[in-house]
Amino acid sequence: MVGNNLKDVTALNKAKRANLIEALGQPAYRAGQLEQWLFARAAATFDEMTDLPAAFRDELARVFFIPRPAVRDEATDDDGTVKYLLELRDGALVEAVYMPGGDHDAVCLSCQVGCQFDCRICATGALRFHRNLTAYEIFVQFALIQGRHPESRIRNAVLMGQGEPLANFRNVADALGLLREHFDVGSRRITASTIGLPEGIVKWADEGPAVKLAVSLNSAIQKTRDRLMPRAARYPLDDLAAAYKYYTRRTRRRLTFEYVLCGGVNDDLRHARALVAFTRHIPCKINVIPFNEWPGAPFKAPTEERLAAFLTEVALGPMALTVRRPRGAAVHAACGTLANRTPAAIEG
Ligand code: SF4
Repeated sequence: MVGNNLKDVTALNKAKRANLIEALGQPAYRAGQLEQWLFARAAATFDEMTDLPAAFRDELARVFFIPRPAVRDEATDDDGTVKYLLELRDGALVEAVYMPGGDHDAVCLSCQVGCQFDCRICATGALRFHRNLTAYEIFVQFALIQGRHPESRIRNAVLMGQGEPLANFRNVADALGLLREHFDVGSRRITASTIGLPEGIVKWADEGPAVKLAVSLNSAIQKTRDRLMPRAARYPLDDLAAAYKYYTRRTRRRLTFEYVLCGGVNDDLRHARALVAFTRHIPCKINVIPFNEWPGAPFKAPTEERLAAFLTEVALGPMALTVRRPRGAAVHAACGTLANRTPAAIEG
């Protein structure tokens, strides 16, 4: 438990931590040492910081705590994907995923505890929204996972775990800044996935970090979108298109549109043509994700025939097209299936 009067040392910004160190009579270089321990090495306690004087460590521990999450469970798929269940200081649970891939080793990060958007294509949508993660809590998922995979030099991060990045904008932006500062993860190797509400997209274009954005579109037919993601579908498709065009003009970056293909729902030729018509005037690529089922899921994966026919039709359009095959499906780590299930629950 957190002691009553202890303060979160990561809630201070870097300059304030440096001021504090000076106020405690320590030389300025201790600030850099403390930053290294807190972020690059993801220390859980001040005791671990062995190159700091013991008396200074005691002084810090009397005032502060480090809110590093504990790994409560992990599950490894045959494809090497590892899903981690993390417990935060207040007992809340989130998940993060390690995805091996040679030069493309990546970590999938969560940015909220639960989610308020209730998309039906996503298991997280069924979890009640609890709170935003702090910048440190988002960042440290990467540091923890890198620490558990020392053989891997992870250089890619995707914000595709639990939560909507644009609903926790400031902390996500700060977390990505920490990632670039403490690990070899450049902006081009970070992708944030969003349901793409217009005002959020405009804000990201104006003020957001220069990372890649992937918008979860899922249908360019309003009625079908309403079925798949009812809250996001409150916005007319014309408003979305205007926001996406603004984003690509302002940032000079392409968007990725993610299209979760659900069998018998949005996988026919009418939907394929609507997708091409919607995206053809927006600089973008399209990433089709066959629906990953979970126990009790409301939709099914498409058949291989429907998937092939859909892809063939979309390929007639001018946009680059990719298909994301499931990773970590056996441990419910694949896209859209994160819902804090422990391995025991999965096996059950
Ligand atoms: S798709 Fe994203 S925004 Fe929608 S419920 Fe899942 S986590 Fe939330």
